[in-house]
Amino acid sequence: MFIKHNVKTWTGKVIFHVDINSFYSSCEEIRNKSLKGKRHAVIMTNQTSGTITKGVVATCSYEAKKFGVRSGMPLYKAVELCPDLILLKVDKSYYTQISERIMKIIADFADIFEQASIDEAYMDCTNKINSSISIEEYAQQIKKTIKTKSGGLLTSIGVSTSKSIAKIASDFQKPDGLTIISNEEIPEFLDPLEVERVSGIGTKTQKILKEKMKIKTIGQLAQTDVQILIENFGKKIGTWMWRVSRGEDSEQVIPREDHISLSNETTLNTFTHNREEIKKCLNELVDELHKRITMNKYQFRTIAIKLMRTDFRIETRETSYTNYQKSRKSIEFVMDFLLDRFILEDEVLNSPDLNNSNNRTLPVRKVGLKVSNLIRDQEFKDIQARQKTLLDYID
Ligand SMILES: [Mg+2]
Repeated sequence: MFIKHNVKTWTGKVIFHVDINSFYSSCEEIRNKSLKGKRHAVIMTNQTSGTITKGVVATCSYEAKKFGVRSGMPLYKAVELCPDLILLKVDKSYYTQISERIMKIIADFADIFEQASIDEAYMDCTNKINSSISIEEYAQQIKKTIKTKSGGLLTSIGVSTSKSIAKIASDFQKPDGLTIISNEEIPEFLDPLEVERVSGIGTKTQKILKEKMKIKTIGQLAQTDVQILIENFGKKIGTWMWRVSRGEDSEQVIPREDHISLSNETTLNTFTHNREEIKKCLNELVDELHKRITMNKYQFRTIAIKLMRTDFRIETRETSYTNYQKSRKSIEFVMDFLLDRFILEDEVLNSPDLNNSNNRTLPVRKVGLKVSNLIRDQEFKDIQARQKTLLDYID
């Protein structure tokens, strides 16, 4: 079943679902290495001090899972199953910090990126896979990046042609799994799985399917007359689960609504002061960035250039248009204006006041380009439409 997946054998979109394994517990292991290999669990509790005596398991280590401890389990039950369980209090702000950092890093691997929760994301990577890189290799790169940049987090990745199948696939092998299911492999993969493997088929729906309708597997669901599903669950849900079971779900990967910026950056081959070289690099970044703006159907108002000096200090200069923009030209147009506002060596040499060793400007090692103040094309149209209506009334 598991063949090499490359651009030649693949039809349809390439959708990744990335899930960080035992996220909260793994974060705890990052800051306290002595927890590694031990049975421990992060407990949601309202106790502010002292030893934890009540609450619910949020996440636990794989060693604790072997004893039957599960997320959502009451503490007393978990301790009953695993008496020497190490209990840790949930620290959401610490996990959020790690999550934000990781999500930002892996977003660059996607054409379209959608964070689904603190430890999960969907990525449309259709245009990233080409003749020089297979899906396996690309997925391994993402896994490796997360592991090294986080200090040890493991992920399970599922890849398929739709979000729902990618999600089922990432769930298929844990921890540290990679499951890739092409269009041709979907029926063989899905058919034997139980219906509750579909994210969105909850306890209630599952019970109706299994007990009342005798539909136990996704394969049986796919064989069911869609009308019968509609009668039982209504048109929207009935059609949805039928389509998912047949691998025909076409839900798009959509960036989070609060996505505040898109950016692109690169490390220079040789660190430099040279304005022309820096500009050349920025021009190369415009291509990729503008492609992402267009694919995500965004418009932007603010453009920023970021330079990182060789001592890793970061300097940013930004400027904003009054109106939303979407052309590549409107990024290029402000590039010189923004570059003028950085002190580059050329200018320092020409300026007697600044030309002493204390004020020497360090060369640039990395350049970045960012657009923010984003709006979706559709939102923009809605606003225009509303304004038009308003003017119609004023008239
Ligand atoms: Mg997870």
